[in-house]
Amino acid sequence: MTMEHPEEALEARLAALEAQARTLEEDPETRRRWGAAVLGAGESLVAGLAHRPAWDDGPGARAELLALGVPEEPVSLEVALDLFAREIDGPGLQPASPGHLGYIPGGGLYPSALGDYLAAVSNRYAGVAQVGPGAVALENMLLGWLRDLFGLPSGAHGTLTSGGSIATLMAFAAARDGCGIGAEEVRRSVIYHSAHTHHCVPKALALVGLGQATRRELPTERGRLVPSDLRHAIEEDRRAGLRPFLVVATAGTTDAGAIDPLGDIAAIAVAQQLWLHVDAAYGGAFALVEELRPRFAGIERADSLVVDPHKGLFLPYGSGALLVREPRHLAASHGRPGNYMQDVVELEDLPSPADLSPELSRHFRGLRLWLPLVLFGLRPFRAALLEKHLLARLFRERASALGYEVGPEPDLSVVLFRPRRQPEESPEAHEARQKELLARILADGRVFLSSTRLDGEFWLRAAILSFRTHRPQVEHLLEVLAR
Ligand SMILES: *Cc1c(COP(=O)(O)O)cnc(C)c1O
Repeated sequence: MTMEHPEEALEARLAALEAQARTLEEDPETRRRWGAAVLGAGESLVAGLAHRPAWDDGPGARAELLALGVPEEPVSLEVALDLFAREIDGPGLQPASPGHLGYIPGGGLYPSALGDYLAAVSNRYAGVAQVGPGAVALENMLLGWLRDLFGLPSGAHGTLTSGGSIATLMAFAAARDGCGIGAEEVRRSVIYHSAHTHHCVPKALALVGLGQATRRELPTERGRLVPSDLRHAIEEDRRAGLRPFLVVATAGTTDAGAIDPLGDIAAIAVAQQLWLHVDAAYGGAFALVEELRPRFAGIERADSLVVDPHKGLFLPYGSGALLVREPRHLAASHGRPGNYMQDVVELEDLPSPADLSPELSRHFRGLRLWLPLVLFGLRPFRAALLEKHLLARLFRERASALGYEVGPEPDLSVVLFRPRRQPEESPEAHEARQKELLARILADGRVFLSSTRLDGEFWLRAAILSFRTHRPQVEHLLEVLAR
């Protein structure tokens, strides 16, 4: 088709497209209305938490959501919010609930949501210092605060990640390259961790090409790695001509909240020249509590360390952090120049997250961590963490007094418990009875619990970490257990 006035046609098309494209930018009045409606929905959600079950196993129909799909024509915010309330936020576990005592409870501090709002509206780029110097400086400052909290040397640095699993993945890439484990070395190399290590560890090892290395899953004593077992295993492997290079210790196991003997493990790692990775995803924040700090002694010798602000700092999901003693290893594994980034100038005093992470374009996640920290100050964080620890101890004592078998005194805030096995009762029948009890707790709905399997045995566990969990939720659980 030939056009008589191609420019005019082009201009007409552009005008039509512009009119449509401009609807992507709402007018100020609409913006105010939307903002108020979303804040209102958030407000009623938070205000309603105390009266909502922690667990809702309603039918969870999602028919309208799926029928709407991704429409060509817009729907109103009221329709979208209604779908959110009924079909998205309704069924299943309510992670923001004070009664969430399962898995490792996440948080959802309100100022984090406001921080995310500012991050999204400004869309500040927190990947490269030259482009977003304020954003990068903020994230680096927060990492420096975490580094000091754990007593790592001043040269240590890292990056804020989306969570612990990704941070672990990056740590292992740095460990692999820092220890010079090339392809031909993989089969000879050996990694040590306890049987209670989080499953993100083997997953991350496989993802960084260490799936064919030898993994020594060492048995535990009361949930903790035994240093002499570790040393013997390393010595034996060396004698066999293998190449021990990485030990993973956990500061707060997910299953039982146990802290491995970090000081002894660090001493072995140093003596044997192994990379020490400390997984403090769940437990790390408890280092803020003066009374619990001694349990973390040795963590300052970690070569890499992972901590999840979306656990012990009560942030919403999407916040992990990685620290590496010698960040040049992280940079060696993650730094790659790109042609279209050629204008970027490295700022000496301000390392760029993009050089230390697989992410290039990334969420400006520093704001969601910073805003609650500065609006509340550290004091209530310390208090809340100590409160959770003491609630865990109280729960353990009281469950034991009710006749339940309980696990070890909690290092942090996870308690294992179960009804005592009757004489004559088979392990299978005992397990079935625990599952029944769990179903009854979930049916009551006020608290949500989950179970685990430790050294082959079934246990119920209460993980007390939501900032909204206080004494009444523990009393509810004890009430159900008493019945
Ligand atoms: C939660 C957890 C992880 C994994 O972190 P995500 O943020 O869930 O990816 C790793 N290790 C431990 C000990 C954890 O509790």
